[in-house]
Amino acid sequence: MTTRIHNFAAGPSTLPLTVLKQAQDEFLELPGAGASILEISHRSAAFEEIIEGAESNLRKLLTIPENYKVLFLQGGANLQFSMIPMNLLRESSKRADYIVTGAWGSKAVKESQKEGETKILWDGRNGNYTSVPNWQNLDLDKDSAYIHFTSNETIQGVQFQEMPETEANLVCDMSSDFISRPVPVDQFGLIYAGAQKNAGPAGATMVIIRDDLLERVPTGLHTMLDYRTHAEQGSLYNTPPAFSIYIIKLVTEWILTEFGGLSDIAARNEEKAGMLYSAIDSSEGFYRGHADENCRSRMNVTWRLKDEALESAFVEQAHKSDLHDLKGHRSLGGIRASIYNAMTLESVNALMEFMDTFKKQNA
Ligand code: PMP
Repeated sequence: MTTRIHNFAAGPSTLPLTVLKQAQDEFLELPGAGASILEISHRSAAFEEIIEGAESNLRKLLTIPENYKVLFLQGGANLQFSMIPMNLLRESSKRADYIVTGAWGSKAVKESQKEGETKILWDGRNGNYTSVPNWQNLDLDKDSAYIHFTSNETIQGVQFQEMPETEANLVCDMSSDFISRPVPVDQFGLIYAGAQKNAGPAGATMVIIRDDLLERVPTGLHTMLDYRTHAEQGSLYNTPPAFSIYIIKLVTEWILTEFGGLSDIAARNEEKAGMLYSAIDSSEGFYRGHADENCRSRMNVTWRLKDEALESAFVEQAHKSDLHDLKGHRSLGGIRASIYNAMTLESVNALMEFMDTFKKQNA
């Protein structure tokens, strides 16, 4: 028998054990269906209950107002990089503004540039993406088609700690910190997130869109790329990623029952991140955090070793101690510990102990 590792992968990533066990229990016979979730029609009553349950849990967790639709789409957050400008910029005679705080925001810009006028409002590239801007220093123009930003940059590990109050149409890629903390949904025009970090397995991408933005979608878009198709058909225009949506329902139920809501899970996320940052800060320079202190991610903790040549030994030895997937993204190097909602305190403790031992042996 193999044991479950401490899984620090950036996504797909660790899921709550209780959810995995429930899915295992229900795998052959989904209650009320007499067949597996993998085998039933997406038009069946059993699946209807699942997709409605997932949506209603998300609405509860995030206090999503009535005038927003919740969509379950495919194509990952990457497809949203294109769908957003296709639906909201094309033929609008407006400009889209992008705040770029890391690799994902930078990819999003490239797709927008193919669709229309795109302005980079702020770019952290020259600072090696170690920071985020102060909202007060940005011109959030309510006349632009929308203002796009990435709440948490998964590769660099920088995260906005606050959301702005603005009349502009904010569009946010929340892929890597979705449902990890409360956010004021009513301040946003559109929020999107791939499921495979905090919410479930890969397959579904959630889009929360305010109704008035749907009215701006130009006619003539390909049916599958038009938000209105999915809004009008309750995400059932085509066959949805049923298994992913089923697990999203279970994960959101887990947050509601085990934590009560997002404030409590956010407090635990703070605690876990605080533990790792304090291990970095108290290492007398042996470990060096990547992000500036005021924008350190609670989800992806990124750091370097003073002696960068030791980084591969760190990753290899950690792996031998069942601490997996700590290698930083290939574009950045260093170490990255992804500690999403389902990451346990026990696993974070195991990593802290390893960091301490490794330092003693190599300092
Ligand atoms: N945005 C962010 C912030 C991400 O972390 C990722 C995936 N790691 C993506 C976009 C791309 O997501 P997908 O692979 O689902 O297209």
